[in-house]
Amino acid sequence: MTSRKPLIVANWKMNTTPSEGKELAQSIADNIIEPTDVLDVVVCPPFTGITTVRSALSGTKITVGAQTASTATNTALTGEISVQMLRNIVTHVIIGHSERRTIFGESNKSIAAKAAAIGKAGLTPILCVGESIDQRKAGHSAKEVANQLRSSLDSFEYWRNLVVAYEPLWAIGTGTASSPLDAQNIASSIREELRNIAGKTESTKINILYGGSVNSNNIGNFMKQNDVDGTLVGSASLDPLEFVKIVTVAARYS
Ligand code: PEP
Repeated sequence: MTSRKPLIVANWKMNTTPSEGKELAQSIADNIIEPTDVLDVVVCPPFTGITTVRSALSGTKITVGAQTASTATNTALTGEISVQMLRNIVTHVIIGHSERRTIFGESNKSIAAKAAAIGKAGLTPILCVGESIDQRKAGHSAKEVANQLRSSLDSFEYWRNLVVAYEPLWAIGTGTASSPLDAQNIASSIREELRNIAGKTESTKINILYGGSVNSNNIGNFMKQNDVDGTLVGSASLDPLEFVKIVTVAARYS
């Protein structure tokens, strides 16, 4: 339960062609009880699906996000999509997802540059942070998350446009979610760190999401936590009715 406006984010990763994305978005739009002032919903398709998903969601309050972005502009970086190219077509950009950190070698430094560029463009970065299973076993979860947070927000100043997603690596796509209490404890330590970085007033306004094997059965218990303001959903967001159910349950806690 939170005084902030909750946010539910769908991360479709590499799933869906443009037409499949349109169909999935349409099905979500058809079944969702329109998110009103109580809850925000953002769907992040692959880049190729942004246009079709936007058209399927036009006339709804669900907005579209991107899964990453490059800080370079108008330059020779074949294949990259810049923040500038995403302006006016997405509202949010996921950055620092564990898959980008571990598979593509993205560092806190490069993520910090993305956060700053996205904020400057008037978009909202969804900054993912989370510890590995070894760090958790060593009791270093909060320390690792705080370190990622500080370093990834090094040059950030657009506090009104920031979402932080706590995503423990061992919970992503594994079917084993964090316990709601553990998620609350880390979310609370994130808020404390944000207070140090951004100041008290700003820190109380920033949405902190939990992500990692969330479904319609466990979302309610996460939403009951004081510092958990929503979720970043992977696999379960590919089933439109399950995703709508997650939104519906989450809305009860707004
Ligand atoms: C994710 O990819 O960010 C994620 C949370 O995935 P899942 O919900 O499948 O664990």
